[in-house]
Parts: sequence; C-alpha cells; structure tokens
Amino acid sequence: MAKGFVSITVERCKGCGFCVEFCPTHVLCLSSAFNSKGYHPPNIVSAEKCSGCDLCGMYCPDFAIFGARYAR
Ligand code: SF4
Ligand code: SF4
Repeated sequence: MAKGFVSITVERCKGCGFCVEFCPTHVLCLSSAFNSKGYHPPNIVSAEKCSGCDLCGMYCPDFAIFGARYAR
C-alpha cells in the first residue's frame, strides 16, 4: 500500500514537468490532455509508489501539486 498520496490542482499547472522529473519513484507523467490554459498537467500513473515525500510540491513553481504521507 502507498505510504502517501499526491494531489494535483490541474488548472494551476503550467506544464513545466519539474514534478515528473524530480519524483524519486516515478509516480507522475505529463498528460497528453490540456488544462484550460493550454498546458499539459501531470497524471498519476503509479499511485501505489507515492511515498508522500512532497518533492513534487517543493519543486512546483506554481503551487499546483503536493504530496503528503498517510497518518499511521
Ligand atoms: S511542477 Fe507544477 S507546474 Fe510544473 S508540471 Fe508539475 S504541477 Fe505543473
Ligand atoms: S509526494 Fe514524492 S513520491 Fe509522491 S508524487 Fe510527489 S515526489 Fe513523487
């Protein structure tokens, strides 16, 4: 079971891909779909691998994503 989860606010995303690049467990990939601003937001492709480390949130320049650990 995943140790954490990731939450994406698609409409804030500018498609830079930092979250995809820096996620250590490859949870994310950029979607082929567009948000209303014309950017490709990230998709969650391996939710079970998310540790909730929040590196994606730390690198996102637009506060469009964050990760958090599940409480034990
Ligand atoms: S880092 Fe933020 S702005 Fe960049 S692709 Fe990921 S969610 Fe979008
Ligand atoms: S919280 Fe960590 S493991 Fe989960 S998607 Fe973000 S960078 Fe990847």
